Amino acid sequence: MARQLSANNSIHGQGVDEFSSEGQQPLDHAEQARDGQQRRRLGSPGPTRGSGVRSPCKLVTGPRTTTVTGTLPSVARTSGPEAALYPAVKKWALTKLDCWEVALDTGPSLGRIDVVGIRDFGGGDLASRSEVIAVEVKRSGQPFAKSAGQAHGYSVMADRCYLAQEAATFSGQEQVVASRLGIGLLAITASGRVSEVLGAPVQEPLAELRLKLLEKLSCAVCSICSTVFRVGTKVGGYQHVGRKTEMPGGLKSAAEQKLGLMWWLHETANERDTSGRNLNYWRRYLCADCTRALAPGTE
Ligand SMILES: [Zn+2]
Repeated sequence: MARQLSANNSIHGQGVDEFSSEGQQPLDHAEQARDGQQRRRLGSPGPTRGSGVRSPCKLVTGPRTTTVTGTLPSVARTSGPEAALYPAVKKWALTKLDCWEVALDTGPSLGRIDVVGIRDFGGGDLASRSEVIAVEVKRSGQPFAKSAGQAHGYSVMADRCYLAQEAATFSGQEQVVASRLGIGLLAITASGRVSEVLGAPVQEPLAELRLKLLEKLSCAVCSICSTVFRVGTKVGGYQHVGRKTEMPGGLKSAAEQKLGLMWWLHETANERDTSGRNLNYWRRYLCADCTRALAPGTE
């Protein structure tokens, strides 16, 4: 649905979901031009515009107070039959799992998840350990095996996965199946109370998919300290990180503004990106703490 976006919501001319590369943050204009020159010099066979790849060149950059017209990603598309149950599960994730971020009906193109939460678990003094929690929500009467399989499918991108079902009693056999699949079980009562019937074990998601899911929640993993941190206040926004190309002085400038940093791997992408895209999407992040710690002349 097209709507007006203020730069507080997004500095892009398009919702990031519209880009062909999983809503990935593209380069700004200067970076695109430079990257294009590099690719031409290197003889990259990447596609040109009009070849089916939506050009991120429509990206709007500049002062963050600029109002642009664009399309928001469909992040809270809670129109499914289970949507009425989402708030109860969200509340459970916030209060029982201590999630500090919860989003509804979101995910990369591989699949949307009904409820996704992020929490910090088991540490912080010497290492960060954040977990992504994915919950498949079902109305009563849905076939268990199919629902459990859906929940299990989220393990490719989430650290723990649950199936939450309305008015579910979860038989012993169903709990055995859930244990075998490595998913937790949540029962939702008619009054909206959520209780954990079976805990969810830790999974080993694919790193790339986990990061794509995190980005849908406006979060990223710091390349130095591995902490999951917010890159923006709204989905599609990057208010908490500076783009290296926009900031003369790079690290120092970002540190002075108490921002994290986003930069692109031009050399590596030019050499190894075989996706056929004509723009460089290979990007990494630093959190504000690491940016400050590494920036010259800052304390
Ligand atoms: Zn960091």
